[in-house]
Amino acid sequence: MSRIVYVNGEYLAEEEARISVFDRGFLFADGVYEVTSVLGGKLIDFDGHALRLERSLGELDMAPPVTKEALLEIHRELVRRNDLSEGMIYLQVTRGADADRDFAFPDPEKVPSTLVLFTQAKVISKSSAADAGIKVISIDDIRWGRRDIKTVQLLYPSMGKMMAKAAGKDDAWMVEEGAVTEGTSNNAYIVKDGTIITRHLSNEILHGITRKAVLNFASEAQMKVEERAFSIEEAQDADEAFVTSASTFVMPVVEIDDVSVGTGAPGPVAKRLREIYLEESMKAAQ
Ligand code: PMP
Repeated sequence: MSRIVYVNGEYLAEEEARISVFDRGFLFADGVYEVTSVLGGKLIDFDGHALRLERSLGELDMAPPVTKEALLEIHRELVRRNDLSEGMIYLQVTRGADADRDFAFPDPEKVPSTLVLFTQAKVISKSSAADAGIKVISIDDIRWGRRDIKTVQLLYPSMGKMMAKAAGKDDAWMVEEGAVTEGTSNNAYIVKDGTIITRHLSNEILHGITRKAVLNFASEAQMKVEERAFSIEEAQDADEAFVTSASTFVMPVVEIDDVSVGTGAPGPVAKRLREIYLEESMKAAQ
């Protein structure tokens, strides 16, 4: 069975779906996206993703293509039509297809945005990577200055993943002015003497939806949280490290630039947070 995808109001077999060659997402990376995970056929933290989408669009002067309620219905319809029990829903909104290639934004009254969603079936609740922990390298963060906007400009994060792969590792942490900003597609954390440390929110990092939920659960569980920058050296010297994202939840990091973190195995704080996150977010799934 081929996947059913959503394109501008229509549900289509993936082979039938078409986007214009003049679409600004394709020509200028002029678009934003969200990834919402699905567990037990239900959406994890849909409200958080819808809110961040609205913010990303607002920062780029784009109007929401449909209401939040309509968006929820499209997500649910895709889950139904694809019989998706576990995986992700990818959503992308671009500034649409103008009549030609032009740097200037088109008039939004004349050129509607493009809205695309598709499902990705994948087992995400259980993962051998989460059991073993992942190994990361550090790379320079050379991305643009508005990383708080979830744009589809993902070339450098892709290159970062390839650099990690070439080094025989799993992912990369990006470093700017001596401090870790975030992972290529996740937020980065360390744990020292029981305190969870993660970079403060700013334009330098994506405001992770999983980050927000995990920090809330950590505080509710009386764990200490410090939001501040940290270096690779501090991370290598920490008791634990981990990353968070919508599709990997809480993922332990056991090695940074060839140095083992803590015991070299996933630590108790990361393990506990992963359990709490899965338990609580499934309870609240819609
Ligand atoms: N930072 C970056 C650069 C990302 O690409 C992602 C995942 N899209 C995250 C952080 C994690 O965000 P979220 O928890 O909302 O998936």
